[in-house]
Amino acid sequence: MNLIAPAPDRTSAFLHPFSDLGSLQQDGPSVMTEGDGIYVRDESGKRYIEGNSGLWNAVLGFSDSRLADAASEQYRRLPAYHAFFGRVPETSARLARRLVDIAPVPMARVFFANSGSEANDTVVKMLWMLARAEGRPQRRKLLSRRGAYHGTTVMGTSLTGKDYVRAFGLPPEGVIFLTCPHYWREGRAGESEADFLDRLVAELEQTIVREGADTIAGMIAEPIMGAGGVIPPVAGYFAAIQPVLRRHHIPLVADEVISGFGRTGSLWGSQTYGVEPDLIIASKCITAGYFPMSAVMVSAEFDDRLTAASQEFGEFPHGFTTGAHPVGCAIALTVLDILLNRGVLDHLAGIIPAFQSRLRSFAGHPLIGEARGVGLMGALDVVADKPTKAPFPSDFEVGERIAKAAFRRGLIIRPLGNSVIFAPPFIMTRSEIDTMFDIVQATLDEVL
Ligand code: PLP
Repeated sequence: MNLIAPAPDRTSAFLHPFSDLGSLQQDGPSVMTEGDGIYVRDESGKRYIEGNSGLWNAVLGFSDSRLADAASEQYRRLPAYHAFFGRVPETSARLARRLVDIAPVPMARVFFANSGSEANDTVVKMLWMLARAEGRPQRRKLLSRRGAYHGTTVMGTSLTGKDYVRAFGLPPEGVIFLTCPHYWREGRAGESEADFLDRLVAELEQTIVREGADTIAGMIAEPIMGAGGVIPPVAGYFAAIQPVLRRHHIPLVADEVISGFGRTGSLWGSQTYGVEPDLIIASKCITAGYFPMSAVMVSAEFDDRLTAASQEFGEFPHGFTTGAHPVGCAIALTVLDILLNRGVLDHLAGIIPAFQSRLRSFAGHPLIGEARGVGLMGALDVVADKPTKAPFPSDFEVGERIAKAAFRRGLIIRPLGNSVIFAPPFIMTRSEIDTMFDIVQATLDEVL
């Protein structure tokens, strides 16, 4: 007797993350089968420019055999091992050292997990553990910003400043959301950029005083918001808020899941925006998307406190079975070598001006409210009325329409409400940048 039920069809068993499950039942998913450079191909053989590097991560494209070779070599040497109970794969220890060496501010140690969300959870647990061990168990609240994205685990979702978080009934209790530092959208009529910044700094100070500094475990911030819509902070933001946090002894965590490893044009978003974090979260580009991995880097001062705290608890009670996976670490070491020593970051510096100039040329379009970005990331914000910045009605789904039309033309870009987002692979050539934006132009002509 055959006990294995035949699947009704090839894709119906797949439950899709972040997708409209209703329309997928009717239309079915796009099934991708191959990658080549900046392109992916679907099962019909149609080729698409991956204008988002997958999910911001495949910065070396979809066919880098050096990463496949690094994985294969590690699979033959030590294909699986953990880092629990005082053991560590040699490759993973090497990656930790390499990351400490290239960190944007002095860092002492690295903890590895499998995803950006897990890294965010890890940081929160570290902060809470320290608070408890140091006799301040009430230090549990976290500061985040509206528009921020920090992941999809319970804590990652709670830290995320988007409306759907409420739909889960997850805390805002314990997570306090500050104003999104987006001058174009959040600045008030007649308010200068400097005045807007002053308002944000005053809000932070007042929030800390209102809540009580001694109830706040830390603040988490992306140097530039990514999944919130590619939102660079108002000029001078981190230089202005960091003294406030320091004065109140509130640690700052930089979530560099998107901005780490070159995306903003510097190796770290913290360098681009003058962030001086106590902890750094990295993921995505760390393996160029070829393996699930994330890292939490901790400063020396933090590391000393964590070591003292774990003595209190007997051990550091946290870890993931496949965190620090040796194959992921071998890939990450190769990615860093390719980025830093094989000319990719130099190539990136060469193409960023062309990318930014083509992106910003859309600012002249009568329905593009803002064309913004930094490095090799950008967004076009579509408005129904430019002078008032009034958005299209949400049921018009303007971002979705543009992304779908671009997809038909062979370009994958991400819709986000009224905007579309670009974050192509670092290996893109100037002529591929032109091809991508020519498709965008034709798409806007079609849709708007
Ligand atoms: N933090 C930031 C800034 C992100 O952009 C993301 C994902 O896009 C995450 C955290 C969550 O990462 P993951 O999807 O790997 O859990």
